[in-house]
Amino acid sequence: MSAETDTEAARRAAPAGPGRRRPAPWVLMYHSVAEFTDPAEDPYGITVTPQALETQLQWLRARGLRGVSVGELRRARAAGRADRLVGLTFDDGYADFLTHALPLLQGYGCSATLFVLPGRLGVDNVWDPLGPRKALLTAEGVREVAAAGQEIGSHGLVHQHLTACPDDVLAQELRGSRELLHELTGTLPEGFCYPYGTVDRRVLAATRAAGYSYACAIAPGRLAGTYALPRTHVSQADGPLRLRAKQLRHRARQLRAAVLP
Ligand SMILES: [Zn+2]
Repeated sequence: MSAETDTEAARRAAPAGPGRRRPAPWVLMYHSVAEFTDPAEDPYGITVTPQALETQLQWLRARGLRGVSVGELRRARAAGRADRLVGLTFDDGYADFLTHALPLLQGYGCSATLFVLPGRLGVDNVWDPLGPRKALLTAEGVREVAAAGQEIGSHGLVHQHLTACPDDVLAQELRGSRELLHELTGTLPEGFCYPYGTVDRRVLAATRAAGYSYACAIAPGRLAGTYALPRTHVSQADGPLRLRAKQLRHRARQLRAAVLP
């Protein structure tokens, strides 16, 4: 079986040129990594067990791929050496990133981007009404993740639907969270991640104006680009076959996007 990557296939099928859109890289979206047994305990499908994450990292390795933070992925793409890289993102900044995800990522030579909410440090995911309640990293925890070489990005201040926010609140979510993370880690975050994946042209323009270099969405449709990177949700159910199907679906979408006007 060919181990050809999305980028290689898309480049050959749709070479860059006037009117061509550059295919988006493959970026995976995770949230929490924790033990659980009953899917009913996880109604939003945001949890994978450490065992499932390890199987998924093994699958990447078996296909000659390596997971990296979006910042690292972008730098590698700019240098033309990203063909074997896949973006790994973890939304919300759960405390279990330190205990469960980080040791596995390090064991497989991977890095990731953790999108945190500096207005909710040390509390829990109160925005998910059905639960389960999951602890978020404290300020010290975020610093520990950064010191371990992982990328810290902003997920806004308190997890709001930004498309519904008035301009002043939107600016505070984007700029205020960026400044707080700068104070917290000593580094200005490059990346933003839209809560719930919701983005429109106004939110996208405000994100760019706030100084971010890129932003992650989920399925941004025609807004797809540097400030609305599409991502593939990875769940507990995703073993090798389902991951392969998701990889092919991403590749097909990029091929379509590259040839459509
Ligand atoms: Zn979120």
